[in-house]
Amino acid sequence: MMKKIYIKVFLVMAIILVLPLSVSAKTLGQLKQEYAALEEKYAAKNNQIKTNESQQNAAKARIQSIYGELAQAEKDIQALNDDIVKCNNEIAEKNTQIKDLMRFYQVSEGESTYLEYIFAADSITDFIYRVSVTEQLTTYNNKLISELEEMIEENKENIKKLHEQENSLKSLQEELRDKLVILAEEEQQLSDEEESLAKDIQYNKQIINYYIKAGCKENQDISNCANKQLPYGTKFWRPTNSGMMYSTWWSDTYSDGSCRTHAGVDIANSCGTNIYSVASGKVVYAGYASDGYGNKVIIHHSINGQNYTTLYGHMSSIYVRVGSIVTKDTVIGTIGNTGHSFGCHLHLNVCVGLGSCVSRAGTSDPGRYINFPPNKTWYRDRTSSYSGYYSNPCRY
Ligand SMILES: [Zn+2]
Repeated sequence: MMKKIYIKVFLVMAIILVLPLSVSAKTLGQLKQEYAALEEKYAAKNNQIKTNESQQNAAKARIQSIYGELAQAEKDIQALNDDIVKCNNEIAEKNTQIKDLMRFYQVSEGESTYLEYIFAADSITDFIYRVSVTEQLTTYNNKLISELEEMIEENKENIKKLHEQENSLKSLQEELRDKLVILAEEEQQLSDEEESLAKDIQYNKQIINYYIKAGCKENQDISNCANKQLPYGTKFWRPTNSGMMYSTWWSDTYSDGSCRTHAGVDIANSCGTNIYSVASGKVVYAGYASDGYGNKVIIHHSINGQNYTTLYGHMSSIYVRVGSIVTKDTVIGTIGNTGHSFGCHLHLNVCVGLGSCVSRAGTSDPGRYINFPPNKTWYRDRTSSYSGYYSNPCRY
């Protein structure tokens, strides 16, 4: 038992040591530099997408041109096959001629020579001529046949080569199709990254504009200059009229009891349930975020002279804008299931100081400031006390 507790304490300490401790102490100039870096990244991503697109177009064009080459190869094979048929016909014809000539030759050599001479030849000269021509013709035809046979062999060889060429073209096409699949996946990933960069740029722009309007100077710590703009409050309220504590800060949501790094609390209720600001303050972010929080609102507060930041995640609608002054009765939006969320719930972070309250290391236990019931129990109003402070087995 003791050993387990030591391990838990060690893990929490290790996580705290690894994460940056100070995240909000920045100047407006630094924010602008970050903004410029994001824009550069965006441009680079855009170029990568263009390169990917031209690679895809090249592969598509090559696949298309291979179809043309394959059609040509088929045509060539057809022509060679036609030639073979023609050659075979010619060979058959020559064989018939040879047979006819042979018959005549045999007849002329046989006993009926004389009769043939009488009936077929006009004279003895003619007869001798016929015999010699027959011999020559037979030789000539035989030579022709072997030439035709050679041609047929050559055609067959060429057909074989064309088939090989066809096969390699087809496998090249397959390779290109595989490459296209990979390129398309890569393009999808690149445009997702581009989209999330665009949202980050949008977010940074909102933040920068907020601090400019607050009168921050380039080298001034933004948490100091923005402070003057905040309405004063005295306490925190629950963010909804009712809800169930679904998961607490750094709580053990894993079945084996091990601790999960959870930056805030999860409050479950149906989608569309009104969300209020937990205290009076000023909205510094309102919009969709690519950091997993989905539709997100960030509010800066000043409670009894201490600065805080609260973050509301996974919202379905947002009713406030950057710069809006809110009170604990302002409905800032509704519970949703946007971003990295698996059911209707509100994720709420509380941070000491003014910042974006996204980094886990910067968050504080919301249960320290807001009167929440124990884990897995419901609250039915925004303020009444509960006997059991909500359990937090990992942190305490
Ligand atoms: Zn959560």
